[in-house]
Amino acid sequence: MIPITKPFFDEREERAAAEAIRSGWVVQGPRTQEFEKLVAERVGAQYALATSNCTTALHLALIASGIGAGDEVLVPSYSFIASANSILHAGATPVFVDIDARTYNLDPALLEEKITPRTRAIMPVHQIGLAADIDTIHAIARKHQLSVIEDAATIIGGTYKNKPIGAHSRAVCFSFHPRKAITTGEGGMVTTNDPDIARQIDMLRSHGANVSDYARHGAAKVIIEEYPVLGYNYRLTDIQGAVGVEQMKKLDWILERRLEIGRRYNEAFADLDFIATPYEPPYAAHTYQSYCLRVAHNAPKTRDEIMAEMQAAGIATRRGVMAAHLEPVYVNRYGRVALPVTEEATRSTLLLPIYAQMTQAEVETVVRVLRQILGA
Ligand SMILES: *Cc1c(COP(=O)(O)O)cnc(C)c1O
Repeated sequence: MIPITKPFFDEREERAAAEAIRSGWVVQGPRTQEFEKLVAERVGAQYALATSNCTTALHLALIASGIGAGDEVLVPSYSFIASANSILHAGATPVFVDIDARTYNLDPALLEEKITPRTRAIMPVHQIGLAADIDTIHAIARKHQLSVIEDAATIIGGTYKNKPIGAHSRAVCFSFHPRKAITTGEGGMVTTNDPDIARQIDMLRSHGANVSDYARHGAAKVIIEEYPVLGYNYRLTDIQGAVGVEQMKKLDWILERRLEIGRRYNEAFADLDFIATPYEPPYAAHTYQSYCLRVAHNAPKTRDEIMAEMQAAGIATRRGVMAAHLEPVYVNRYGRVALPVTEEATRSTLLLPIYAQMTQAEVETVVRVLRQILGA
């Protein structure tokens, strides 16, 4: 069976995790700090704060931006449900905005019609490894005095206009779940250039304490911490931090391999007019956190038939990105919202296997089997 994805670990992650365990310090500590430093340097941000996952990173970024009850946040529905959920967790209301049919990212032209006196922020999502149109979104945010919190879960190492994702907005949130390019099992990170946001997230992720337990542990004098705000336990463990350090060292290679596979798929299906390969806008290059194909209505097989036949041939696929607004948790709260581009995209797209250690033979098997199923 060719899986949809696989994390890329070797003895370096094993050794790093074992060293963290042997050291006796396994909660957020020196290895997490090193991981944060590598991410901050990589994305060109002043601060990076590790969290237990990207959902908690988004939750804290919203709270630290002062967003809560009564506020509205503009977000695409075409995303993993965690994007919208983080807004609900903050006590605010997600207002769903439709996407651009080619990039599958939030369509900036549709933002202003959804802005109300309660709108406080925009949460663009860089979907499956392709940057959203940040400059256009920022221009609208500036005009209406809104915060921008980026859901960058899928795009570590990606760029917008050749500048790394991670320092364009007040807060940018990454995921290190195994479905992403690099992983710590579970894991997240907020990057920011705002010292106040960094300070708040540092406290909020650790029960609202003003001094971390690692700082107290390392201090010469006794320090008694205070709890100025209501916090959470959203910390990463140092075992995960150690794995993150090793994964960051592999990031360039992993992204390069994914790019090679993505390009091979692009070329392999370019001649099929009923299959759309990923589009790249002038402002961003794809990093292929997932590889998405759209199956047109005139294709010889439906999307679901293709997925079933691929599965029978030993190749895992997944439906394209979900649409949060169609899920009962949102329909029950807000009723049925119409987002035609999102609904069409979620119905007609599928994801193909892609991972750094995928062999050329595996890639060619996927290409051959899919073309056979399509009779091409
Ligand atoms: C994976 C993902 C998340 C959630 O990340 P976790 O680390 O699993 O919490 C949020 N948004 C998007 C777009 C994602 O792909």
